[in-house]
Formats: sequence, C-alpha cells, structure tokens
Amino acid sequence: MATLPRAISDLVGVFERLPGIGPKSATRLAFYLLNTPISFVEEIAGDLARLKSEIMICGECFGVSESNVCGICRDSKRKTNLICVVERAIDVVALENVGNYGGIYHVLNGVINPLNHIGPEDLKIDELLSRLSKIDGPVEVILATNLTMEGEATALYIRKKIEVLGKHGLKISRIGSGLPIGSDMEYADMATLSRAMEGRTEL
Ligand SMILES: [Zn+2]
Repeated sequence: MATLPRAISDLVGVFERLPGIGPKSATRLAFYLLNTPISFVEEIAGDLARLKSEIMICGECFGVSESNVCGICRDSKRKTNLICVVERAIDVVALENVGNYGGIYHVLNGVINPLNHIGPEDLKIDELLSRLSKIDGPVEVILATNLTMEGEATALYIRKKIEVLGKHGLKISRIGSGLPIGSDMEYADMATLSRAMEGRTEL
C-alpha cells in the first residue's frame, strides 16, 4: 500500500472498515471511484455528509433536528412555558401529528428501568430541571411518558425532582385519560392522543 498515493490509500483504509469489505474490494472501489465522473463522487460525498448533518440531536429538547436547535424549539409561536416530557423523539412526532399542541418538548431518551440497568442519570432529567430553572413565571410540565410501569415510575420520579426545585406557579400534569394502560403512545391513534393531552390531570 506504501506505493499508492495517500488519497487513495486513505480511502482504501476507510472502505476496509465497512462490513463485508476486504482489502481487495476496498482497493477496487477506490479505483472505481477514481475513474468515475467527479459529479458522481460529489453526490456520494454529499449524501454521506447529509446522513449525519441533517439528523442531529437538538441541544434544547434532545429531539431530532436538522440543526443545533430544532424547528420546534426555534418556533416563536410555541409556548415556552408549556413543556411536554416524552420518552423518545418518535413520541414528539406522534404528538405533533395530532396538531393541537402549542408548547415545546423534552425528550428523556428512555425511562428508568432497573432491569435494564437504566437509572435516572442515564436520562435527560438534570437537563429538564436546568431548563425549568431558567424559565420565569408560571410553567406547566406535562409528563407524557408511556402508561407502562416504567413510564409511571419515571413520571413520579421526575415529579419529585421538579417539586424540589420549589418553583412558584408550577403545574405538573400527567397525560392519561383515554390512553390504554400499558401501551406506547406512538401506537395510539390521533383522536386518542388528542383526548389524552386535553384530559391530562394534575399530579
Ligand atoms: Zn428542540
């Protein structure tokens, strides 16, 4: 490999790290690309870059985003004193599809699950508390973790943590009414989700 120009040997090295590609295939691919029109190589390079750059984690809510801060967090029409706490980024998609929620979100990135060794420190709970402490005035936090044992336990844990903050004008509510017990909200139909949000009860 020492005789190859650096730009080629580097590419061969990268290809070799892909699954199912040995040194021969890697070398063949590199030379194939060297001999194709530059437009094709640029297309591949562009698609690879987009794969990661267009799917980022929002630094505010930890949902998926195309930039450091997602479109929901940047939307000035959203109520920033209404925060819906969900387990996964896909739950944001489900609730957004309902279309009548005007607040912002906070994605926990899972639930407390001792059997799977997932504790509160593995979730974005401290980040939620930090967001809350920066908000002036009344705030409502909707705990919209799933109605499973882990989802309920996580909601109760977060409620206690939020209460310790001792914020004035703080309302904590729990999504629920209408959602089937033990189910994931991503599987709920829009009408049910909408009722569950509207029928949330104070915790
Ligand atoms: Zn966001």
